[in-house]
Amino acid sequence: MKAIGSFVTEPIRCDKCLMAAREVLRGPGEFHQGAQIGFPYEGYPNLPIIAGQIMAHEVGEEIDMFEVVLAPLLAPRICHGHTLRVTVLGEGGGERIFHLDPLQGGGILADKPRWWKMVDEVHRQVAEGNDMKPYSLADGMFLMLALCGEVGQAANVLKKLCRGDFDMRDATGQPTADRFDALQAFGRAFDNELADVRIMLELVARFSNTNLDAAVEKKFPEAVKKLRKRGIIK
Ligand SMILES: [Mg+2]
Ligand SMILES: [Zn+2]
Repeated sequence: MKAIGSFVTEPIRCDKCLMAAREVLRGPGEFHQGAQIGFPYEGYPNLPIIAGQIMAHEVGEEIDMFEVVLAPLLAPRICHGHTLRVTVLGEGGGERIFHLDPLQGGGILADKPRWWKMVDEVHRQVAEGNDMKPYSLADGMFLMLALCGEVGQAANVLKKLCRGDFDMRDATGQPTADRFDALQAFGRAFDNELADVRIMLELVARFSNTNLDAAVEKKFPEAVKKLRKRGIIK
């Protein structure tokens, strides 16, 4: 069976990024066929878009094909500091927006949050400073431990709330501030620890090449099915 999906870039403003996109996406390739298009319109610059088709053996594999074949070719050619978004639509209804840039390499990293690049760069420096190859097995084990540590720190903040540590007290130990102040202080501390948890989770996912959003989209419906079967939800 042959499946035909499609891809389209955003309008490309940078000449170097355009050259890169033309090199990889334009013309016939082994698995794709692309062309440059533009919409000249009064008052608007004629910004080029590259769009085309992507072929796969099975329906649903078109997006994987882009991720495995084209994204790794294109991402390293994009200028530093620039990101090129490419939407890929599968014949079977799947779709994905790739955010290609030279640091992230595109593909599995397409859906990373905005702050990811900074976290990734800092982590690489820290790992290398510790003579560890970033995202190697040893690094992955370290990151997993660090994730568990941050979850523990978040739990500890919650424990302190229950224990009353956030309540302000006078010299005799009597509460002096209202509950609102206590909750605000707790909120700030908890926010910080949850941020650490998220950072570590994203780093672990980078180690295992897990696209977290795609993984949840695949996994959660299975959980829903089980809950329905047991009559816990409708
Ligand atoms: Mg922490
Ligand atoms: Zn550029």
